[in-house]
This record gives sequence, C-alpha cells and structure tokens, in this order.
Amino acid sequence: MNKDILVTIEHIRGQVAELSYMMLAAGRILAKQTGGEVVALLLGHNQQPLANDLGADRVWYTDHPNLADFTADAYLDVVAGQIQLASPRAVLFGHSSMGMDLASGLSARLNLPLVTQCQKITLVDDALQFVCQLCGGKMMAEGVLPEPTALLTMVPGDLSPDVGRSAVAPEVVTQEAPGLEKLRIKLLRYVEPDADDIDITKESILIAVGRGLSNKDDLELVEELAENLGGTLCASRPIVDLGWLPTSRLIGKSGRIVKPKLYLALGISGAPEHVEGFMGSDMIVAINTDPTAPIFDVAHFGAEVEMLDLVEELTDQLELTPV
Ligand SMILES: Cc1cc2nc3c(=O)[nH]c(=O)nc-3n(C[C@H](O)[C@H](O)[C@H](O)COP(=O)(O)OP(=O)(O)OC[C@H]3O[C@@H](n4cnc5c(N)ncnc54)[C@H](O)[C@@H]3O)c2cc1C
Repeated sequence: MNKDILVTIEHIRGQVAELSYMMLAAGRILAKQTGGEVVALLLGHNQQPLANDLGADRVWYTDHPNLADFTADAYLDVVAGQIQLASPRAVLFGHSSMGMDLASGLSARLNLPLVTQCQKITLVDDALQFVCQLCGGKMMAEGVLPEPTALLTMVPGDLSPDVGRSAVAPEVVTQEAPGLEKLRIKLLRYVEPDADDIDITKESILIAVGRGLSNKDDLELVEELAENLGGTLCASRPIVDLGWLPTSRLIGKSGRIVKPKLYLALGISGAPEHVEGFMGSDMIVAINTDPTAPIFDVAHFGAEVEMLDLVEELTDQLELTPV
C-alpha cells in the first residue's frame, strides 16, 4: 500500500512561495493519515539552500540549468520520473498556474487521476475522502481519493504556512536530472507590475472595464467618466491581456482584491475569478447588454444597456452637475 506524500515546491527568484509551505502543511496532515512520509520535490539550479526550511521528512533536490526557472515541460520530465520512482499515495500541487500546468500534464502523461481545487482530505472508514471546489467555489464535490496514486491541486486556505516550515534543515537527497534537451518552452522574461502606478486597493471609487469595450480608443471616454466621478480605472483580465491597462489595474484571482465604496463594472460578464476580487465592495453597479450575465447576480444595481451609451450620458450629466 502506498503511503508517502510528495509535495512539489514552487519558487520564484530565490524565494519559496507561501503556497508551498501551506502545501507542506497539508502534506504533513495527510501523511499522518496514511502513515507515510512527506517528500518535498525541489527543482532548480544552484537553489539547494531553499531546502533548508522546508517542513518535510526529506527533500529530493534536482539541479539543472534548464530548471533555473519553472517551465512545464522541464518540470514534467523530472517529476514524472520521481512519481514513477516513489509510487506515492498522493502528489500535492498548489492550485496555482504552475500547479495546474504541471499536474494536468502529469495526469495525462502517467494516466493518473487528478483532483483539482481540493480544500481538504479526511480519513473516513479507512478511505481518504476529498472535498473540492467546482465552478470557482460555487459548488463543492466530495469523493474517495482514487488509489493507488492520486494527483491533487489544493487550495489550502485555512492552513498556516508556518506549519509547513521547519527550524531544522531536512535531509536532502540529490537526484540526477533527466536529459532535458528537447524542451519546447523557455522563460523569456518576467513582467513586473508597474510599481509607480496607483494602488487601486486604496481607491474608494473604481470604474472597471471588461471585454464589452471593443475599441481601445473608447477607453478615453471611460477615463473621462472616472475623472468626473473622482474614481480610478481598473479592468478584468482581457483588457489587461490586451495591454490596454497595466497589470497593476487587474481585479480578481490573479490581480488585486479591492473593497471600494463604489465598484462600477462596465461590460464585464462576472466570471468567478473576477468577482472574487471585488465582492467586499460597499456598492456594486453592473452595466451589461446581456440580461443573463452572472455579474447581475452579485450587483446591487444593474442596467441592461450599451456601456458607452451610459458612459457618455453619465459624463454629460456629471459635467452639468459635478460631484
Ligand atoms: C486561473 C484563472 C485566473 C483568472 N484570474 C482572473 C482575474 O484575476 N481577473 C479577471 O478579470 N479574470 C480572471 N480570469 C479570467 C476570467 O475567467 C474571465 O475570462 C474574465 O474575467 C472575463 O472578462 P470579461 O468579463 O471582461 O469578459 P467576458 O467574459 O467576455 O464578458 C464580456 C461581457 O461584456 C458584455 N458586453 C459586450 N458588449 C457590451 C457592450 N457594448 N455594453 C455592455 N456590455 C457588453 C457581454 O455581454 C459580456 O457579459 C482568470 C481565469 C483563470 C482560469
């Protein structure tokens, strides 16, 4: 019976992600239930010191120049071999872009079951049961963790990263890297958020634009409205992906979490990944041409109207009667 738990470690620019310490905490709880050990998988180049505070029974460290930065195909080659070697009960990944990339690739390559967005695992009548989120947390699913080996991406929200840290350096076992010659992905550059930009988490009025805005030039009209309202522009992901606004203005799961007095959402559908970024707002107003858009489920007020018609009308009114 497989008992050990493998935990993949994420790090960027010489720092282990907080999420990885939380995953180690989850791994320790799980290993107690299976009676196995926690093995942390650390991959990198000249990064062995990162192993020093990992709360694992053992760290398998793999060093190679092509592992200096995360790429799904290099990591896939290494971790696939490690899973085959260890035959663990479970392999844990953070439910992050890296974790999702890697876990799904491994599931396909090794034909292993994958449970995503797992919140917790408990032992019930000798069987490990998982609870995981569906549809961005709108629904929960329960099930028995498939045997003998299962992959899990986890959202370990209530676990403390401190539980996954160790004051005593764990045993480090160096592992030979496979060839890693035929890689198709390489990191070209890091894109840092603009440090000089406004901190939108401190703004009390936010005007958010989404894919309903089809023309970049029309952003000026929305900016004019924002100025008249004394507010600041922000956006959903498509607008940031197009480069129309900087990453520092992105609201949601991969962006900022905001709690303004007013959140005016223009041409935004209300995907869960966006909505979780502004749910704490005092007042949410949604403008959308589609009456079935999910944003209307979370808005306090809404209008089914062309966003630019409303933007122009509102700007005219505000210019007549400034706030
Ligand atoms: C792991 C992950 C993380 C993510 N993180 C984020 C995140 O942090 N932030 C984020 O925003 N997204 C995030 N996303 C993407 C998210 O799932 C959605 O794809 C995105 O939020 C959709 O943006 P949108 O509402 O602007 O576009 P769409 O979903 O395309 O919606 C556009 C809306 O505009 C309406 N519309 C069209 N024309 C008009 C008009 N003229 N006037 C008025 N309304 C109009 C349409 O009816 C539609 O409802 C993430 C996704 C994943 C998988």
